[in-house]
Amino acid sequence: MSYNYAVLDNYDTVIKRINAACLKAGRDPEEIKILAVTKSARTQDILTLLSNRDIFAAGESRLQDALEKWGRPPLNAFAAKKFFIGQLQSNKIRKIAENFDIIASLCDGGHAARIDAAAAELGKKAQCLAQLKLTDRQTQSGLPLSEAEGFIRSIRADFKNINLLGLMAIAPETTEAAVLRPLFKEVKKFFDLNFGSGAYLSLGMSGDFEIAVEEGSNLPRIGGAIFN
Ligand SMILES: *Cc1c(COP(=O)(O)O)cnc(C)c1O
Repeated sequence: MSYNYAVLDNYDTVIKRINAACLKAGRDPEEIKILAVTKSARTQDILTLLSNRDIFAAGESRLQDALEKWGRPPLNAFAAKKFFIGQLQSNKIRKIAENFDIIASLCDGGHAARIDAAAAELGKKAQCLAQLKLTDRQTQSGLPLSEAEGFIRSIRADFKNINLLGLMAIAPETTEAAVLRPLFKEVKKFFDLNFGSGAYLSLGMSGDFEIAVEEGSNLPRIGGAIFN
């Protein structure tokens, strides 16, 4: 088998950068897990990564792509937890609940009701993250921070087949620390008030994961920096 070692080099570089961010912030690198976003990766590169590194989680944003990649050997043989990180659509929720380990993009009560019902049918608990939105962009889904506490309370009260495991937030498209850092700090504060130890705080992508880790993220979602 021919390996594209660039993927492994890229991954190792990401780990080093995370470790450096932890050192800077006085955090234990063991606290940080990586969610490898495979949506634009070649199957061969995903396989190379999973075969050679211990990958905690993989994320896809489209059900169909995930079924094609993860639904068949050899990818389905790996233990990486499968995260759904895309926008939810009602008619796909049942299949998403069936095929993913964690739904990271929950931000709608109607979707929650469908996830809850699907989980009941499947005889399992649906593991979810609530998705926050840190931008004003109309096309971006997610809850504004001002609505997040009420949403989380209602999910916990109303849906006994949903386990809320933490938060995913999508930052504005900028690499400016002066913009990102205060936002990440605010989310971390909110996270600490609403979740206990062991919960996921998924902040940071390829362009901003170091700042996110410095500010408390424990599950950066990284695609391009590994696979491009
Ligand atoms: C694509 C995607 C990512 C990864 O983005 P990169 O910049 O490639 O690291 C992270 N989170 C979500 C929700 C995404 O859709």
